[in-house]
Amino acid sequence: MSDLTPTPRTTLRRFPELGSYDRTVIDAVLDEALISHVGFVAEDGTPVVIPTIHARVGDTLLLHGSPASRMMRRLAADGDVCVTTTLLDGVVLARSVFHHSMNYRSVVLFGKAEPIEDLEERTEALRQFTERILPGRWGPARPPTEKELRATAVLSIPINEASAKVGTGPPEDDAGDLTRPVWAGVIPLALVAGEPEPDEHTPPDLPPPRLG
Ligand SMILES: Cc1cc2nc3c(=O)[nH]c(=O)nc-3n(C[C@H](O)[C@H](O)[C@H](O)COP(=O)(O)OP(=O)(O)OC[C@H]3O[C@@H](n4cnc5c(N)ncnc54)[C@H](O)[C@@H]3O)c2cc1C
Repeated sequence: MSDLTPTPRTTLRRFPELGSYDRTVIDAVLDEALISHVGFVAEDGTPVVIPTIHARVGDTLLLHGSPASRMMRRLAADGDVCVTTTLLDGVVLARSVFHHSMNYRSVVLFGKAEPIEDLEERTEALRQFTERILPGRWGPARPPTEKELRATAVLSIPINEASAKVGTGPPEDDAGDLTRPVWAGVIPLALVAGEPEPDEHTPPDLPPPRLG
């Protein structure tokens, strides 16, 4: 898979050695992260960042939502968007306050969102969102009706202007601090699925789904 070409908007300035334009790295972050933050400028000029679910399908990132939401309305009218996704891998505890940091994998994507009008394409997009939340879920769940499809806007953003940044490893303490008797290192963090909690209508003999 090819690298993306950095643009003035995606050129990393601080710690550029942590950056990557490799689609394999970018796609892996987009595929693992369940949510992203969508940045756009509202009609009145206010900068807004809204958390939402995303799904990557090949070379596009899909967003969906109510056509009545400000995010979907604004992006359907003027698609300029910046989508940011972050996976938090650990807190990095240094011997000095200054060198405390985090380990992470993040992606920043710029693009022009385009509405998907075709109902078959929209159905496929909803299948992608559903399968992403739980693989195999599209089969047993009731498919969307035409009314539900019309009540769901889907936007597509090409993945061709994006950057990834990956922070890993132990703290980078100053040499003079290394003998300080302070615990230093990394506390890994991970998103972990809990025990499934069936709702009151779920027959007790149905096996619970397993995430991950
Ligand atoms: C969990 C987490 C915590 C962080 N905490 C801090 C903090 O407390 N203070 C701080 O200054 N920075 C923090 N960062 C780093 C921050 O995201 C920026 O990388 C940093 O502000 C330096 O940006 P810049 O000036 O190099 O680039 P900017 O000029 O801000 O950005 C230029 C371009 O570089 C790319 N880019 C910049 N950052 C990222 C990124 N993280 N991932 C993917 N592409 C990126 C984008 O394409 C962006 O448009 C954190 C990052 C993460 C993921």
